[in-house]
Amino acid sequence: MTGAADAAEQRARSLRVVVTGGAGFLGSHLCEALVARGDRVVCVDDLSTGRRENLQSLEGSPSFEFLEADVSRGLPVEGPVDAVLHFASAASPPAYLARPLETLAVGSDGTRHCLELAARHGARFIMASTSEVYGDPDEHPQSEEYWGRVNPVGPRSVYDEAKRFSEALTMAWARSRGADVGIARIFNTYGPRLQPGDGRVVSNFVAQALAGRPLTVYGDGSQTRSFCFVSDQVRGQLRLLDSGLTGPFNIGNPGEVTMLEMAELVLELTGTTSPIEFRPLPADDPRRRCPDITKANRELGWAPEVGLREGLQATILAALRSGAEGS
Ligand code: UDP
Repeated sequence: MTGAADAAEQRARSLRVVVTGGAGFLGSHLCEALVARGDRVVCVDDLSTGRRENLQSLEGSPSFEFLEADVSRGLPVEGPVDAVLHFASAASPPAYLARPLETLAVGSDGTRHCLELAARHGARFIMASTSEVYGDPDEHPQSEEYWGRVNPVGPRSVYDEAKRFSEALTMAWARSRGADVGIARIFNTYGPRLQPGDGRVVSNFVAQALAGRPLTVYGDGSQTRSFCFVSDQVRGQLRLLDSGLTGPFNIGNPGEVTMLEMAELVLELTGTTSPIEFRPLPADDPRRRCPDITKANRELGWAPEVGLREGLQATILAALRSGAEGS
């Protein structure tokens, strides 16, 4: 059967999907999208960086269950399982630098527990990997063929190497045990529900601008990133889930900006006059990052649709609303 026919057959029935890290920023949007299309979701999260508030719209839904558990210790999910999506991990640099051992554990023991659960049920496994596997890249833009340039003993290695190990483990299960797996390399993703000031650049700049505080640009602000709006990211993940393909696939938006341009755009869209303050560049901060998405486009039929300006407007609006609700 072709991948497309497989996907069509799968969609004919509702799936029961385990989402680890489902209370996080990206995980919670993914849980919502799965329930919205008719699947059932078991969200597993230890709430170390995720938040129950992120799941408000799903509480009480008969298609949604929440299980508080640390996936690096085990994945005690009962009942049928059609897919396991491993999105658990601290994702913001300050969050994973504050939890170095936990971050390595969730990418090693956690990934193994997910693969074991998926294997017991003959379920598909999706690994939420990252553009960080490319490290500080000397190829630009980064295609999936590029092997990366990661400092294995630098502070960021707790995240980067955990994800690289997760990819290695996922491929080993596919090759040696015939596991049905897919790997997504997620590039910087933003949108409503980013925790204000969580250390990631969009969360920081939006929170700072709305509070009238200075925007903290690290280094000289010439380093680049390419930002993907969360709805595009989630659509890419669902395409990968349904495709039956392994990848790895870059899922990101190739629109590349410097951090100084990002700061100026946030100032313009919030209409605030906060100054820009320069701070030291963190160790091993990648100089530039931009996905080559040719493969995802060709094999998954996926491309991002939301531009940076539009996406940031939605993010700022959501931050204003949640601020107003919180006050
Ligand atoms: N950054 C910044 N100011 C901040 C937070 C981050 O200039 O307040 C920079 C950071 O040094 C990096 C880029 O923005 O070059 C993206 O950082 P983020 O932590 O969002 O994600 P990363 O891609 O580094 O994992």
